[in-house]
Amino acid sequence: MTAFPLTGGCVCGGVRFEVSAPLLGALYCHCKRCQRRTGSAYSVTALTAPGSFRVVQGEELVRSWAPGDGWVKSFCADCGGHVFTTHPEDSKRISVRMGALDEDPGIRPSAHQFTAYAAPWDPIPDDGLPRFPERLPERARPPGSSTG
Ligand SMILES: [Zn+2]
Ligand SMILES: [Zn+2]
Repeated sequence: MTAFPLTGGCVCGGVRFEVSAPLLGALYCHCKRCQRRTGSAYSVTALTAPGSFRVVQGEELVRSWAPGDGWVKSFCADCGGHVFTTHPEDSKRISVRMGALDEDPGIRPSAHQFTAYAAPWDPIPDDGLPRFPERLPERARPPGSSTG
């Protein structure tokens, strides 16, 4: 059983957050931006229910980067650990980086997006999940889900 609130934070522990309600959806993102941001092959992000996410410690350490054509990426200024991402026009739409969570959130990623850009050195596993060469189409998303 998953206990709420979910808790999580950055690598150094300076930034801590809580999620008070079940996550709405999760997906793998293989875009080049996620590769550069994480230094890895992909990122996994989960959408929070509106109003359920809050930073409980280290708000002053949170820095954000707005790419101009996607969600705003927020990370810890001390350690660089990415913690959440926010819709550029709707600050209530927040997704957490699944790797930043402390415990099993219960939810599992349900799709792969931007597979056209997947790292050639890390083939996508044959996990039966739908794959989308570009951004996850609207019809396949949980309400208001995250990208990039
Ligand atoms: Zn940190
Ligand atoms: Zn991405």
